[in-house]
Amino acid sequence: MTVPIALDAQLRVAGLTPTAQRRAVLALLIGRTRPLAAQEVHAELNRSVRHIGLTTVYRALHTLAEAGLLHTFDLRGQRAYRHCGAAPHQHLICTSCDAVTECPPDIVRSWLNELYQHAGFTPHPDRLDLKGTCGACANK
Ligand SMILES: [Zn+2]
Ligand SMILES: [Zn+2]
Repeated sequence: MTVPIALDAQLRVAGLTPTAQRRAVLALLIGRTRPLAAQEVHAELNRSVRHIGLTTVYRALHTLAEAGLLHTFDLRGQRAYRHCGAAPHQHLICTSCDAVTECPPDIVRSWLNELYQHAGFTPHPDRLDLKGTCGACANK
């Protein structure tokens, strides 16, 4: 899990100026398993940290996603944002609780090879979102 102290470093490495808004938005998303929509980020920030306009939240989320610090997901037609690790990964998305698990690419590599053998299809797996039910929801 990333420590908030590294916030400015993360922003700078991504080529962004660490503004108060970007810092607040990023800090809110760090450590979450579930992607959050802009409205949720906006509501939580205004409840806990600071007053920040919805347009500013949208802009900050967009910038952070463009810089690769956030990954975007489609949550029932709504765009949602999640802070993901820097290491390459695929996404396992739970359709019951919306939790996203980062999966090392090696785990799906043999499956992708099989896909090639069967269909002659060469996947470009820079991003693979697999939907299903997470372990916690399956055990309910
Ligand atoms: Zn991700
Ligand atoms: Zn789940």
